[in-house]
Amino acid sequence: MNLADRLSAEIAARRDDLVELCQDLIKIPTLNPPGENYREICDYLDRRLLKNGFHTELIRAKGALGDSDRYPRWTIVARKEGPRGGECVHFNSHIDIVEVGRGWTTDPFGGEVIDGKVYGRGACDMKGGLAASIIAAEAFIAICPDFAGAIEISGTADEESGGFGGVAYLAEKGYFNPEKVHHVIIPEPLGHDRICLGHRGVWWAEIETYGEIAHGSMPFLGDCAVRHMGAVVSEMERSLFPALALKRTDMPVVPEGAKQSTMNINSIHGGEAEQDPDYTGLPSPCVPDSCRMVIDRRFLIEEDIDEVQEEIHGLLRHVQSERENFTFNVRELQRVLPTMTEKSAPVVQSVARAISDIMGKEADYVVSPGTYDQKHIDRIGRLKNCIAYGPGILDLAHKPDEYVGIDEMVQSAQVMARSLLDLLDGREN
Ligand SMILES: [Zn+2]
Repeated sequence: MNLADRLSAEIAARRDDLVELCQDLIKIPTLNPPGENYREICDYLDRRLLKNGFHTELIRAKGALGDSDRYPRWTIVARKEGPRGGECVHFNSHIDIVEVGRGWTTDPFGGEVIDGKVYGRGACDMKGGLAASIIAAEAFIAICPDFAGAIEISGTADEESGGFGGVAYLAEKGYFNPEKVHHVIIPEPLGHDRICLGHRGVWWAEIETYGEIAHGSMPFLGDCAVRHMGAVVSEMERSLFPALALKRTDMPVVPEGAKQSTMNINSIHGGEAEQDPDYTGLPSPCVPDSCRMVIDRRFLIEEDIDEVQEEIHGLLRHVQSERENFTFNVRELQRVLPTMTEKSAPVVQSVARAISDIMGKEADYVVSPGTYDQKHIDRIGRLKNCIAYGPGILDLAHKPDEYVGIDEMVQSAQVMARSLLDLLDGREN
């Protein structure tokens, strides 16, 4: 048997270990927000990786967004150096999970195995991927102890809430500098035969319209900010949404509907604040003097962030030209530029070859409609050789009865290991 086949056989033999590892991770409820049990899961990973000869570091993102003494943001970075010099392959997984929500028929923290699938919150997003990368690294180290370079595995906090207390913090501290790390694989649940090259851009902003408060029985004495906002919504319906639908991208974004520019109106609030549910009185009659809308604009690699902003400002100026007393303000809440790794990048090529070897089919290339931690590796770490690749079905993420297929986990671990063989010269001496 050649080395590649031995490696795949070794991973197949570790199937039960992989399932157990995935179950153990699911059983630690790392809910975010608020960010529970981060230390517990890092300690668990620490014990596991130390046993396998990794050098480990537990890092608290002190002072990062979300970090507090009650909910400290813990992250683990483990590194295993090979006996020969070479490049470093880094597997990055987030340890946090989103709330459970309603509608479960299985125990969200039970890690139950039913019909070849492991169930639980975080099963596919992304404790299954984390488990697969650990098994891949362990099997590779066992079969190819003389490898060249280094393997890193990180379990990072807060991806679900923006990654500032996790990957962004690590990137700021230099953990993803291109001199130190050369290839990054993020085992997010994009499907075990697909390589995710990047994501669309994000521009979040708050638009506020202004009015003048007056008694609600004499609205003509005031100026209604909500009506001004209504004019903004009408103009968006008339000119903006049709225009966005015409902006198509060459990025291989999935699902199909996200192959264009999109914008979600995330919220609108105008007038009196809503009262607590136990308030039994009526509202008081007032003309709203402020209305705020949060927009979530997802843009394409073909678009420029300045144009995206100008589109909104232009629309508002247009409404202003048609309405009396229309004043507004736009406040940026967040911006993330689109990113897409070149198909010719070494990590893409290597994982693509591994997929075709293991699965006997060509890899599909996709781009994610939303962002994930690649944004920080790209922008802060300045590392371009990065993809998302891992087991699981993206559509199941954040849903009830989330699961990850065991065969899929095994196959994606085989792909990851095969890629290590390729990138870290795992030849036999
Ligand atoms: Zn995720």
